[in-house]
Amino acid sequence: MKRRRVVLAAGAAAIGAGVLACGGPPQANAPRPAPPVATTPASPPAPAESPPAETAVHPVTAGALGASWHPGCPVPPENLRLVDVPYLGMDGKPHTGQLIVNQDRVEQTITVLDELFRLRFPIQRVQTPDHYPGAEDELSMEDNNTSAFNCRGTPGRSKWSQHALGRAIDINPLLNPSVYKTGRFVPTTAAQVLDRTRKDAGLLHDGDPAVRVFTDRGWTWGGHWADPSDYQHFELRRSATASRQRELPFPSQSTSDSAVPPPRVVPPPRVRKFRSLALRSIPYRRFASRESRQWCSVTDVTFAASAR
Ligand SMILES: [Zn+2]
Repeated sequence: MKRRRVVLAAGAAAIGAGVLACGGPPQANAPRPAPPVATTPASPPAPAESPPAETAVHPVTAGALGASWHPGCPVPPENLRLVDVPYLGMDGKPHTGQLIVNQDRVEQTITVLDELFRLRFPIQRVQTPDHYPGAEDELSMEDNNTSAFNCRGTPGRSKWSQHALGRAIDINPLLNPSVYKTGRFVPTTAAQVLDRTRKDAGLLHDGDPAVRVFTDRGWTWGGHWADPSDYQHFELRRSATASRQRELPFPSQSTSDSAVPPPRVVPPPRVRKFRSLALRSIPYRRFASRESRQWCSVTDVTFAASAR
């Protein structure tokens, strides 16, 4: 089997390339034609096709993230990556899109996009949310844009979305809306695909090979949720950090990306010494040592600390 090469682009040149590839700031006045919802029935699986051999991974800056990031977000820009990913377009041709993900989800993201390509699962477009005014998720969804990182909360709840951590991907969101028990759904233009018995190309159903590409690798599919049934959504949490993320306060949003403060460096807890109480010091040291390892080695905890 051909081994896939992942190229880590570093330095100012690579950052510049990433910014240019994103197409610059969104054009607020540029009309975006409404994307057609696929109406052709899904065709039988075609023979597997290998994606392009190389994938580039770029560092990102606050400026490059545009409105999708702001001070107070739970992940600093230096812990995010811009990843060039292959996808098969609705035109049946190979394309390269760009996703921003947490640095600890780069490999997993490349793997699932590779597998979708091999399955010839069609995706309409893959571009970063800063292409839309205010990085507004509704606009991205209405454009049927597949995306990952976006610093936003979970709709209707006071907690960060896994998208704000760079650990969730929305696939063909106009074809795979998020549907609430109340009957509300997003994007608001997805009425024609609320009938989930439809078999249009690009739709996701329970048990589909495209869904299993994720779920067989530990990702959670929002289509399995009761309220909302989030058919577009896949997330890959890490259990060690998931519980902490639930505890994170959700600060008020700001769209300003200027005056970005440096990431807050949080030292590990100090191990206190009990000189005269040797027996008591042993369990305390073990506890503190375990805590220190967590705070030193789990990248996400740095994110957690920066949001407090
Ligand atoms: Zn999502």
